[in-house]
Amino acid sequence: MFNAIYLTRDEDKKVTAEVAALDESQLPEASVRVDVEYSTINYKEGLAILGRPGVVRSYPMVPGIDLAGTVSSSSDSRYGAGDKVVLNGWGVGEGHWGGLAQKASVDADWLVPLNAAFTTEQAMAIGTAGYTAMLCVLALEEHGVAPEQGPVVVTGASGGVGSTAVAILAKLGYHVVASTGRPDEAGYLTALGASEVIDRAALSEANPRPLQSARWAGAVDAVGSHTLANVLAQTLDNGCVAACGLAQGMDLTTSVAPFILRGVSLAGINSVMVPYERRVQAWDRLAADLDPTKLAAMTEVVGLSDAIDVAARILDGKVRGRVVVDVNR
Ligand code: NDP
Repeated sequence: MFNAIYLTRDEDKKVTAEVAALDESQLPEASVRVDVEYSTINYKEGLAILGRPGVVRSYPMVPGIDLAGTVSSSSDSRYGAGDKVVLNGWGVGEGHWGGLAQKASVDADWLVPLNAAFTTEQAMAIGTAGYTAMLCVLALEEHGVAPEQGPVVVTGASGGVGSTAVAILAKLGYHVVASTGRPDEAGYLTALGASEVIDRAALSEANPRPLQSARWAGAVDAVGSHTLANVLAQTLDNGCVAACGLAQGMDLTTSVAPFILRGVSLAGINSVMVPYERRVQAWDRLAADLDPTKLAAMTEVVGLSDAIDVAARILDGKVRGRVVVDVNR
């Protein structure tokens, strides 16, 4: 038997989340069995656990889009018992039982070996949020955004993606401007490396003019909607905005003006389906470019049964940084 967060849906489509003791025989068929050590709560787990539409595709479901642990058995030659592994995405916790459990059964193609720089707990302190932040930074670099070209803005800065992006970009030498709706977190964001902290209201004007006074060489946007439209409108010639999130909304009302008159690039980031080489590259760069003391400063660790409460907190925008779930606690 093993413990897991277990989501069920009744005839009225009401979703219930509980900690349940499950039998290993209930695990889905897949090539690798993992003794999970840590998982995490991202925004997506918040949506899944609270029964919001758009994440979980079948019930019953064990949520958790991230896991880190030790292989207990494998029918795939790439992994053997005792290997430390990490999984981010691939529909795990959405259509296939996920990481908020003491055991998981997953496809070998979805795994990467744990980078030697990290413990399994640190890997989950990074989780999909931090790994996505790294994918955003890689996209900015590949579009030619360099520290000497001007400030880079990070929206949703106090959240998981935002906090990690601030820490990485600051370590790389960028002038990082953190946009937040929580002014009381200014000290936290400055300690992570932000050079300036701005009120997110400054980027929230609805239906903004598509070209405004240009300020940003680049941006990591975890928020979408009006915020993304304002960020695009304020991006310097040939700058790049890496868009990964929708905390404010899915909509985007802008015009082609930033793209055709300023050569701005909009780089879309989807962390779910990323080829193996790119995932290893992102984890290698996290090992090089994320200060472990900053990672520790942005992380809290909770037990499996606490995950349900944290899910509600993250949707309310009340989680700062990252939450690791110790599934054995
Ligand atoms: P968090 O909840 O930790 O962070 C989101 C942050 O967005 C909040 O902390 C808050 O920052 C800000 N925010 C929340 N609501 C609003 C609002 N109404 N208007 C403006 N800002 C708001 O979530 P994550 O960091 O885990 O994820 C961030 C986003 O990125 C989510 O939408 C998530 O779904 C998406 N995501 C996408 C991935 C991908 O592969 N594309 C992967 C991972 C995440 P503050 O308080 O500082 O203002």
